[in-house]
Amino acid sequence: MKSYGYAAPSGDQPLAPFSFERRDPLATDVAIDILYCGVCHSDLHTARAEWGGTLYPCCPGHEIVGRVSAVGGQVTRFREGDLVGVGCMVDSCRTCPSCVAGEEQYCTGTGMVGTYNGPDKVLGGHTFGGYSKHIVVDQDFVLSIGHDASQLAAVAPLLCAGITTYSPLRHWKVGPGQKVGVVGLGGLGHMGVKLAAAMGAEVWVFTTSPGKAEDAARLGATGVVLSKDKADMKAHMGTFDFILNTVAASINLDPYVSALKRDGTMVLVGVPAEPHPSPSVGNLIFGRRSIAGSLIGGIAETQEMLDFCRDHNIVSDVEIIPIDQIEAAYERMIKGDVKYRFSIDMASLADPAA
Ligand code: NAP
Ligand code: ZN
Ligand code: ZN
Repeated sequence: MKSYGYAAPSGDQPLAPFSFERRDPLATDVAIDILYCGVCHSDLHTARAEWGGTLYPCCPGHEIVGRVSAVGGQVTRFREGDLVGVGCMVDSCRTCPSCVAGEEQYCTGTGMVGTYNGPDKVLGGHTFGGYSKHIVVDQDFVLSIGHDASQLAAVAPLLCAGITTYSPLRHWKVGPGQKVGVVGLGGLGHMGVKLAAAMGAEVWVFTTSPGKAEDAARLGATGVVLSKDKADMKAHMGTFDFILNTVAASINLDPYVSALKRDGTMVLVGVPAEPHPSPSVGNLIFGRRSIAGSLIGGIAETQEMLDFCRDHNIVSDVEIIPIDQIEAAYERMIKGDVKYRFSIDMASLADPAA
């Protein structure tokens, strides 16, 4: 079927209106009219070829919420009219140990199929993401939305920013009695604060932006640590059980490792275009501290996160934008000026053929 959206023609050109084909729903497919799509820093990294490997035209977007418009004949879990979400993946091999364990993001068979910039197994070419009017996805990669329909713009970012922070918080068993740090108060960071606080931890935000202190408190943080202020950093040395680092730029990791207690772990989820300078080995050895990484979360865990957020009345703090403001939104994202996620209202998207 015909669809349309916004895509970057190359890494050095702005996103612009774009027409393309979506497959007609196969037996196990769900066709979705997209209502909102969150704007993740990964969209910008990909559209602007910061990571290498981008296929063009590049239509980003993997924080998708919408309404089911049609289902294939063997679809059992969804019906026309349901509110649903799609996150960062639309398929995987389904048989490797990671897939069987429900950790499809770590698929070692074919690799997970990204919602955009992945191999399109049906139509050929590459997948197009949620900066578009429609998407067609196998039911096993579609999530149920239990939030109220009035909250949809703010639910969309849960599909990446929510699960990417929820998954490591759960994996490393964050909870009451722990002091948890979140580095970078952006899209991922502000979800990390809300979720870690809801899990019962004492949360502190490491930020380069002193002006975000009030917001950090409102989001559930006990306080902020100004990461450029050496005295402030020193005052917190050796006190954190767990740190979630969401920074999207290359930074010195040593001060954060030093902030960990003995046996503490810092999980990196930010994927900067340039690598971080190598951390000091001494900081890891003296204190048996760890640096780890984490990639989004599996489908079952994404549903668990959505249900957790519904039950705790958690959504993202969003600034809703029309799609023609996407380049301006990217520029603000680069400056760290996002309060705290852009969400595109897809009603603003016009059919270029009309
Ligand atoms: P974002 O909204 O731009 O937030 C990043 C925050 O990092 C900024 O708001 C800023 O917070 C801080 N920051 C930026 N530049 C910095 C610098 N030079 N030094 C120190 N702090 C800096 O981005 P996002 O959407 O949350 O994404 C964050 C990163 O995670 C991106 O690299 C993205 O690609 C990656 N990501 C990874 C996964 C995964 O599965 N692992 C999933 C989604 C996204 P302050 O103003 O508070 O300092
Ligand atoms: Zn993302
Ligand atoms: Zn697999």
